Amino acid sequence: MKLVKINEDNCVYCHLCEVACKTEHSVSKDIIKAVKKENVLSRCTAEFNYPYSASIMCRHCDDAPCIFACQNGSMHRDERGYVVVDQDTCVGCWMCVMVCPYGVIKQGENKDWGLSVKCDMCPDRSIPACVEACPNEALTFEEL
Ligand code: SF4
Ligand code: SF4
Repeated sequence: MKLVKINEDNCVYCHLCEVACKTEHSVSKDIIKAVKKENVLSRCTAEFNYPYSASIMCRHCDDAPCIFACQNGSMHRDERGYVVVDQDTCVGCWMCVMVCPYGVIKQGENKDWGLSVKCDMCPDRSIPACVEACPNEALTFEEL
């Protein structure tokens, strides 16, 4: 299964991955509306602690603790093998947030308020938006 590989030596903390993620998960699919009007949450987060920087997102763990913690099956593995959340059934109990060792599940805002928001590995794309947007190959999509 292909996953996003993080190459921290190449990351310059430009946040383009976050902007691409916001746009991909927006209703409009428009970069300006996604950021300035819809205020979409990015599923990845660029972290910086000099001299280290990297974009962090769900690792789609083999033995995903978030799936085991979710009491109603909202957090599950989809047909591609990636760990995704069904926001139609998520009740915002945050059990998944508490057990994720990487801290990559966010609290939704606006239309997703209080619900779990996480990387869904861009189901409508062959390459995740964050990977395609990175100019430095700090994120690559590979068999891992
Ligand atoms: S949300 Fe966290 S625990 Fe769940 S698969 Fe992703 S990295 Fe693993
Ligand atoms: S917040 Fe939602 S996805 Fe997370 S454990 Fe609760 S019901 Fe499941």
